Order: sequence, then structure tokens, then C-alpha cells
Amino acid sequence: MPVTCVFGAQWGDEGKGKIVDYLADRADFAVRYQGGSNAGHTIYVGETRFALRLTPSGLLQGATGVIANGVVLDANVLRDEIKMLTEQGVDIEGRLRVSDRAHVVLPFHGPMDRALDASRSADWVNNTTGRGISTCIGDKHRYEGLRVADLLSERVRAKRLRYLLERGNQQLQGLGADPIDIDQSLAEAEEWVRWLKPLACDTTMLLHDAWRAGKEILLEGAQAALLDVDFGTYPFVSASSTGANGIASGTGLPFRAVDKVITVAKAYITRVGSEAGPFPTRADDEFGRQMQRVGKEFGTVTGRERRCGWFDAVAARYVCRLNGVDTMALTKIDVLRGIDPLRICVAYDIDGQRIEHFPADLDALQRAKPIYRDVAGFSEELSAARRREDLPERARAYVAAIEEEVGVPVSLVSVGPERTETVSLGAA
Ligand code: GDP
Repeated sequence: MPVTCVFGAQWGDEGKGKIVDYLADRADFAVRYQGGSNAGHTIYVGETRFALRLTPSGLLQGATGVIANGVVLDANVLRDEIKMLTEQGVDIEGRLRVSDRAHVVLPFHGPMDRALDASRSADWVNNTTGRGISTCIGDKHRYEGLRVADLLSERVRAKRLRYLLERGNQQLQGLGADPIDIDQSLAEAEEWVRWLKPLACDTTMLLHDAWRAGKEILLEGAQAALLDVDFGTYPFVSASSTGANGIASGTGLPFRAVDKVITVAKAYITRVGSEAGPFPTRADDEFGRQMQRVGKEFGTVTGRERRCGWFDAVAARYVCRLNGVDTMALTKIDVLRGIDPLRICVAYDIDGQRIEHFPADLDALQRAKPIYRDVAGFSEELSAARRREDLPERARAYVAAIEEEVGVPVSLVSVGPERTETVSLGAA
């Protein structure tokens, strides 16, 4: 399939990095199309662990990495990531391109995220990761951003950057936060210009040429569909279009360019943060604690603990319907070993009514009581499984029950963090 999109089906941390890495062996281009360095993907290649926040994961398999226009670029994070990859022996020379239309995270954006987080007092508001992503995206939509092309143009940079930095400082001070050092920021930006220039280009042209030439393009979603700014559990969402829905605006490829949509779902579900955002299937018990402990459910970027719960087929159906999903990749099923029964939420009971769709009303979602289908658990070690027949019968039955409840086939089952610890089911 020449153009494939892979994105997270839940609230993030599904193991997208591992699945993209697995699928990327034939990819010519690996593309990030939304979000920013608030993402964190962990990939194990042999003994080596790679933690990537901006660079497309498919780069590790030899694809050309593209940071497309829908991404907001923290240049310092990218610089550090390039250095880390080079030090770890990944040769990226000539294999990384940055869109000249991507917006640049400016030095006041991170402090502004944090100042805004601190200034909010009401319930029902979201906290950011404090990295400036939401403020940068907000500035983009207020026409107060700076794109890579603007940064690289000496004329535009001279006219606009100091103005934006001064304006950012006024806003910071208005919130009672310390201003940033403008001269230092200007000098930092000059440094970015020096090394970004050879990487920047019109990535829409690059991707259109590749598409027309029938090259393999892998589009990597960050965060996940239930954190989508339009379709997620607003306001407990991230600031971008996180599903396949973000591709056209985030890359410039037309909708019809996408041949295959794969969503990555954990065999259970997690949500970061101790109490933020509704979570109908949360398992606040020994099973939830097993998922957290065995699944190592702590954030790559923030270190925050993730709440754990049962697979939510109501949410998965919603996500698959919205994004035209062809198949699911089911990850971390090995973590469920020894839990019996395994529960799949098939509907919600909201005020005595059976609801099979995912409601927009957060209050209703908070009141939702999951209605479960129970499936017998398995006790076998799964990590050596490579083919369907290697999976124990009960694990296969669990996968089949998920397929049935979501109405979408599972094409890959991940049984461990390693690239090789993957079972291809060969589904459509
Ligand atoms: P992402 O942002 O969606 O890529 O997810 P993260 O990197 O935050 O979290 C996924 C974590 O689970 C990483 O540490 C992966 O190495 C690990 N992982 C991925 N797939 C599997 C799996 O099938 N089993 C286990 N045990 N770990 C996995």
C-alpha cells in the first residue's frame, strides 16, 4: 500500500512508535503531520532504546523523515534528537526534511503554557505538557505565529521575530510570569537558522512527487484520536487533529491519497494524569495496578502515571468510524497475562439507558457505567509468538471478541516492545 496512515485509537501511549517502526521497513517516507514535541515514542531496536518526540519513527528503518507543515517545531528538541540519533549510529544525512510551512515554537511558548496552566482554577480544564505546543498552535490560529519560512527569511525574521517575542513577554508579564531574555532568544534563533536551512523545503512538493511516483509513504499520527481537538473528550484533548483527519491539512496531501488507515489500540486502555478527563472503563483495582506495573504505564515525556482500564469498544468503534479505519494493530496483549476474566466494554449505561455511541457530553461520559462482555483470560507467556497459531486459544478468542465488538479486523498483534515481537494476522 503506497500511502498508509498509522495513528493511536485511544488516549495515547498505545505503542504507535513500535508499530510504525515495524511497518516502516518498506517505507520511502515517514511523515509526522500534527502535534509537536509533546509526543513521545519509545522504540527498541535490539538492545538500543530510542525515545523520539519530533523525528518520525520510520526514520530508524531507513525512510526519509518528513516533519510536515501540521507539526509545530521545537527547534531545540529537534537539534537534540538529531544529535542523539547521530551518536547512536543512525545516519540521517540527507534523510530528514522539515516543512517551510511548519510553525516554530518560540522561547516564550513553553513558559506561556505553564503560566496559563497555573492561572486556571476551575474544574474541567486541561493542563498542557508545558512545552509550548498549545500556545504555539493557538498563536498560529490567531495569525501571530512564525513559520520556518519566516524564520529563514532574513527580512521577515527581522521584522517579525522581535515583535513576537516582545508581545509574548507582555502576555507572560500579564500573567505574572517572568519574561524571557529577548536578546538571548534572538541569538538562539540565528543559531536555528544556520542548521535548519539545509533541512527546510516545501514538503508538499516532496510528498506529492513521492505519491505520484508510487513511493511508500507512512503517515505517523502522534497523541491519539480521543485527544483530537474536535472529536476527543474536549477540553481534555491535545491541540491538533490527531487522527487520519489531520492528514490533508497537516501534509498538503489530498484526502484521496491515503490508501490504508491503521489504528493502534492497546489491548487495554490508559489515560495519563491522576484525575484529568473522563475514563469510563478505568480499573481502579488490582487488575488496573497489574496493567500499570507490567505495562510500565508511566509517561515517556512527562513521567506522569497513566490510569489503566479495560478495552473500550464503544470508544474504538467511534474512532474507527470517524477515521475510516481499515485495520487495528493491537498492542501490549502480553501485559494481560494472568488476568481472568478479560473485560471488553461494549456499551455504556448512562442514567439507566444503554448507549452504544461515544457521547460529546463529558458529564454524561463521567456518569457512564460500562457494560462488559467477559472473555476468559490466558496464562501463557506470549512474547515468543510470531504467527497466529503461536497465540494461545484464549488470547486469539480475546482478539476475535475485540474485532467483533469494534467491527474492524485486527491485522497485527504486538506481544512485546521489540520490533520482532509482533504477530501478523494477515487481515485486510
Ligand atoms: P506511543 O507514544 O504510542 O509510541 O507509546 P509509548 O512509547 O509512550 O508507550 C508504549 C510503550 O510500550 C513503549 O515503552 C513500548 O516499548 C512498549 N510497547 C509497545 N508495544 C508493546 C507490547 O506489545 N508489549 C509490551 N509489553 N510493551 C510494548
